[in-house]
Amino acid sequence: MKCVRAERVRIFLTNLIFILLASTTVAFASEQYLNTSEDDSGDQQHLTIRQQLLKLDKIKLEDQPRFKAELAKIKLLPLSQTADIEYLTLLTAYEHALQGQYDKVLPTLIPLLDSTENAEHIIRARILAVNVSLLSNNHTLAFSYFDKLVNSIPSISDPELLAQVIALAMFTYNQLERFDLTLLYERYINYQAIPAKLACRIRVTALDAKYLQPDIAVSETESLEVINLCIEARETIPANLVRTEQMRDLINNNDTDTTLAIYNQHIKEIEQTNYPILISRVKSLAALAYYQNENYHQALQLANDALQLAQSSPNNIALVEAYDALYKISKAEQKYQMALSYLEKKHEIENEFNAGKASQQAAYHTVRSEIELKNQRINLLDRDNELLFLQQSIYQEEAKNSRLWLILVALLGFITLILAYRGLTGRKRFKLMAEYDHLTGISNRYHFNNQAKQALKYCQAKRVPVALILFDLDHFKAINDQFGHATGDWALQQIVQACKQFMRSNDIFGRIGGEEFVIMMPGCELDKATLLAEICRDAIVSIESSSNEHQFSLSASFGVSGSELSGYDLKQLLADADKAMYQAKAKGRNLVVEYQQSEP
Ligand code: GH3
Ligand code: MG
Ligand code: MG
Repeated sequence: MKCVRAERVRIFLTNLIFILLASTTVAFASEQYLNTSEDDSGDQQHLTIRQQLLKLDKIKLEDQPRFKAELAKIKLLPLSQTADIEYLTLLTAYEHALQGQYDKVLPTLIPLLDSTENAEHIIRARILAVNVSLLSNNHTLAFSYFDKLVNSIPSISDPELLAQVIALAMFTYNQLERFDLTLLYERYINYQAIPAKLACRIRVTALDAKYLQPDIAVSETESLEVINLCIEARETIPANLVRTEQMRDLINNNDTDTTLAIYNQHIKEIEQTNYPILISRVKSLAALAYYQNENYHQALQLANDALQLAQSSPNNIALVEAYDALYKISKAEQKYQMALSYLEKKHEIENEFNAGKASQQAAYHTVRSEIELKNQRINLLDRDNELLFLQQSIYQEEAKNSRLWLILVALLGFITLILAYRGLTGRKRFKLMAEYDHLTGISNRYHFNNQAKQALKYCQAKRVPVALILFDLDHFKAINDQFGHATGDWALQQIVQACKQFMRSNDIFGRIGGEEFVIMMPGCELDKATLLAEICRDAIVSIESSSNEHQFSLSASFGVSGSELSGYDLKQLLADADKAMYQAKAKGRNLVVEYQQSEP
């Protein structure tokens, strides 16, 4: 599970770049824009320039070489209309971005960022500015543009432009690992009112939010649906980014045949995209599949191809995967010196990205829970372990040169580490059994109490709010009585799955009674928690009982409390949420009630 999560975290950075492109394709390519230019000018030359710019805007993703060549031609023309000059500036900024020359994008955009002839230019320039600042790890700048954009949402009437801004918001929340917000924002997209291309990209972003959460399984049907949608919209890059996710899943399940079948079937089309990040990622994955098949020759060739491609654009997370494949292959071929250097390179880049992520999180003031920290520690131990193993193997090679004492030192360190790690994983298994509810897999009452108390202490010290949702299933006894206990158990599992998909990694989800659940959300205000409760309520009502043999409907009553009114005492928070939950029951069930302080 740990590995899967690490891989997930990697891909979303890749996706960052295609959203950057998403913001480019649609808004300006509207007929309306064309017509206006026809109306206000009879100048044939001018009309042609506007049309050419529009055409370039449309093709810049599908045909990058042509985009570049034709843009260069337009740059030589004398432009008189401000709107045209602005449009050209915008496209030039995209050109830099597409080539990975992020340092050139913001300087190019400066004239457009605050005031323009056309209001849409500002929005598009800001969208691009956010993307590029994120890519260059300038998070403070990114969030300042992001803030302006999100604040401008109410003033945007054009559904496409609105969808673009929301797409960026969803995308940014993925970056911040606020997958709950990503999925929440998606609900505001009117898919009927936007072009298929944009719809494809937004669906991929939402899918990414699900892929990035290790405990949510994305169904093959859903990925295929999104792939098909994108292919119909002729969006090859996003479609194939979803395929890379599929390949990753297949590799994790050791299904190398299907992985390679996907690779062989689509590599031509993937290469035609000319998109180095995608191509190098796919090749790295194929290299891993060949490596698993012990076909080291093919694996090595593909991994080297991937490395070369990944190196062609800077700031590229695909490098990590290329080095990872090269490291594994070298290790399998017992070329330890080489393997070590690949592994070091891989860690170097990973560290850079992790540092970037850390500063991002800090910029957004996201609270990280103790659990997350613990996981990181275990990850680190795991990683250092690998390094040590390689060092040890090198020492063994050198032992011929009578440097035996070195081997001893290395071995001792290695064994100590292995023992420490074994002990840790052994203890972990015991802990898992004692702390998690065996039916639903979430924290049991005892463990929830411990985790919640820790989180409360932390939040109180850091002066951040905390909220608590408590819910109890409605007329659950009747379901047990009518359909049997097994069906009741099935329903309990479904409910947990339904709610889990909207939770963040540092939320604490516990089963504190037979059919009573609680979610503690560090860093969350009361009104946001109420919104999340509303989403969970809706998700529970939407559970299809048809996959079970009986037909019935499920619902739950929710009470929400928060530190704003109830303070940081777990008992008080629970008592207040419980009071609110009982009000929800009394008012007719299937409701969310927020705790209100009663009049003194
Ligand atoms: P209300 O809307 O007032 O909450 O009605 P209710 O029927 O849900 O309330 P009550 O608390 O009376 O019933 C809870 C039922 O939950 C009783 C028990 O049969 C069922 N239950 C508790 N734990 C489990 C479990 O682990 N599995 C199953 N299948 N049922 C459980
Ligand atoms: Mg109950
Ligand atoms: Mg009940």
